[in-house]
Amino acid sequence: MSELLMVPAHRELNERIHWLIRLRWLAVVGALLTIAGANVLLPDILPIGTLVSIALIIAVYNLFFYLEARKLDRYEFEARYRQSLIMAHAQIILDLISLTLLLHFSGGLENPFMFFYVLHMITASILLSRRASFLYAGLATALFCGMLILEARGIIPHYNLKGYRAPSRYAEPLHVFSVSFALASTLFFTTYFASSIMARLRIKAEKLLEANQACELQVQKLAELNEKLKKADEMRTQFTLLVTHELRAPVAAIHSYLKLILDGYVPPERQREILERSERRAREQLDLIADLLELGRIQQKAAAEKTEPVQIDEVLRSVSDMMRTHAEEKGLTLHIKIDPHIPPVKATQDHIRQVWMNLLSNAIKYTKPGGTVTASVTQNPNYVVGSVEDTGIGIAPEYQAKIFEEFFRTKEAKAMERQGTGLGLSIVKGIVEVYGGRIWVESEVGKGSKFTFILPKIT
Ligand code: ADP
Repeated sequence: MSELLMVPAHRELNERIHWLIRLRWLAVVGALLTIAGANVLLPDILPIGTLVSIALIIAVYNLFFYLEARKLDRYEFEARYRQSLIMAHAQIILDLISLTLLLHFSGGLENPFMFFYVLHMITASILLSRRASFLYAGLATALFCGMLILEARGIIPHYNLKGYRAPSRYAEPLHVFSVSFALASTLFFTTYFASSIMARLRIKAEKLLEANQACELQVQKLAELNEKLKKADEMRTQFTLLVTHELRAPVAAIHSYLKLILDGYVPPERQREILERSERRAREQLDLIADLLELGRIQQKAAAEKTEPVQIDEVLRSVSDMMRTHAEEKGLTLHIKIDPHIPPVKATQDHIRQVWMNLLSNAIKYTKPGGTVTASVTQNPNYVVGSVEDTGIGIAPEYQAKIFEEFFRTKEAKAMERQGTGLGLSIVKGIVEVYGGRIWVESEVGKGSKFTFILPKIT
């Protein structure tokens, strides 16, 4: 059990053992002073030696408890509580016996300090359970009444406070009964009130502790959220820097082409070629902006547009004609393999279309003429599985995770196909993940790549 989770009764007991020991030092000093005072007021009546010895015995066992209590911190929480509980019971029993002995040797029922039992009842109620407190009220009553009866019967001697009380009253049954009854009822009432107050306080303390723990949990959650927000913010800054850089390049190129023409460095017969280059760079930038917009809108679109059951196999069929033409123009063969009875997934038609288009156009882009591209749809118990495999240039293992990051393009890809934003796979990953799916790549340089994505089935 952690210290935080300890019930308040456990924690307070450990602390209050020390408090009780400190209080007992005061009690020993108080008892010695009272004995000295009584000896002055009632000289040669009290057995001073015995009374002082009892006070010293209290001091000795208090020293023992003091040393034991210092060891408590070494125990585990549970063991510490158990040890504290044993110590609390032992101290209360010893205190009750010591008080009874002190009373016996200083007049028994004649001694007004008998009401010191009340203090012990309050201590028991503070330290222990209600049941234990009532048990100790019973023990105190039994000790006190037992002492009175034994004295009245002459079994043990009675020490009369000569000059303070009449010598014979300790043997009068009615007097013994009335004093015992008054003390017993005071003890039980005190225990009842003190333990009720303590029980209520403990419930409040427990509620406070619960509230505190709930607060701590919230604080922890908030700290985690804050950390996530910080990371998101860092990523956003990084992304903005990248975007600005990527957007600048085509504009800078267009600007320098136009400046060359305007400054008269380009002969009229070459001007068309330069303008065509500028137009190409402008188109590239439009593509980039379109992809950026798409990337930024995935979440929004998934939330705003009505998601519906989509057959990813049907979407593949619908894009395959356009893609086949594209592949054949480059001298590639496109195969489509679709398992029967493919269940739908929850998405938008448009998003699934983008996934297939991006994966297929990449496969066609990065495969040399004569190669093959195969798109397939299968299923496993929980997901619909889509894949696009090619016999193209492949991706080195160290780049297989990076290609899903924005703007990342391998050197080989750039060399093979100048045009490309490096955003296609980020868009695909974003779409697949927004619908609870996953995408990954298996690839070998020079042999080909296989992109696989899974989306949860609608059952
Ligand atoms: P783009 O195709 O515009 O470069 P993508 O985000 O679609 O951007 O792809 C990122 C990079 O991943 C590509 O530049 C390329 O290096 C690599 N890649 C993607 N698909 C393939 C593929 N089928 N074969 C080899 N490399 C690929």
